[in-house]
Amino acid sequence: MQPWAIGVFTSVDAGLGVRLDVAKELGVPTVQIHAPHKETRTAAAAKEFLGRCRDAGITVTCVFSGFEGESYADIATTARTVGLVPRDTRAARLAEATEISDFAKLLGCDSQGMHIGFVPPDRSSADYKDLVNCTRDLLDHLTGNGQRLHLETGQESADHLLEFIHDVKRDNLFINFDPANMILYGSGEPIEALRKVGKYVRSVHCKDAKWAPEGQRGTGWGTEVALGDGDVGMEAYLRTLKEIGYMGPLTIEREIAHDRERQKADIGKAVNLLAELRKKILG
Ligand code: MG
Repeated sequence: MQPWAIGVFTSVDAGLGVRLDVAKELGVPTVQIHAPHKETRTAAAAKEFLGRCRDAGITVTCVFSGFEGESYADIATTARTVGLVPRDTRAARLAEATEISDFAKLLGCDSQGMHIGFVPPDRSSADYKDLVNCTRDLLDHLTGNGQRLHLETGQESADHLLEFIHDVKRDNLFINFDPANMILYGSGEPIEALRKVGKYVRSVHCKDAKWAPEGQRGTGWGTEVALGDGDVGMEAYLRTLKEIGYMGPLTIEREIAHDRERQKADIGKAVNLLAELRKKILG
């Protein structure tokens, strides 16, 4: 795979990604996919999807888990509903995440991505320790499948994410870095965060956003915008990826599933922008 192979976040039947035919039309060589609903996570569905990827010359680089009941309506709702953090659903979602790992294996994919949720701030709390144990259980299952877990960034600061990875103490726990999420959640300046967590970054999202107004950061959403139109600074982002030695896929996300035409047009422009920057930076 070429360095910084361009990719797009794709959905089978769940999540905010584009459909595989859009990725094919755009001519990108890689996709990350949002795991499909339980009924679709079958060997037959995996075979069919892989066949379509093969025909289009597309490699699946990461399978993201997602769960029923998650809502990104606002930051407070996200904190209450997303990932393995909510207590009531933790055990059930852990079990489902292991099933998603098995589905990813059917796709020949060695990494699972996840929004684990807002990691509790107090490292001595029972809740935090239980989350650490739950994450270890998932990681041990992934090890059996020869896979890594990539935690999506944004729901906590880079420093707290590093503390969590340190406390989990497993060698297959890494990061999917999303610079726009740092802005959307108000969890830190993205380039500075990328430098901090650099050695754990094994996959990335190319997404852009504008900060929420001063005084609302961390409580109100920033605004997701087309790649290059936001506050990330794409050239600085890619130069920093080079600096930390990241040469894996650049996976574009544009989370406006309600407007498929604009989503496709924006992703097309993002592909061009990334190809230009790659040429400029890597030669
Ligand atoms: Mg993302």
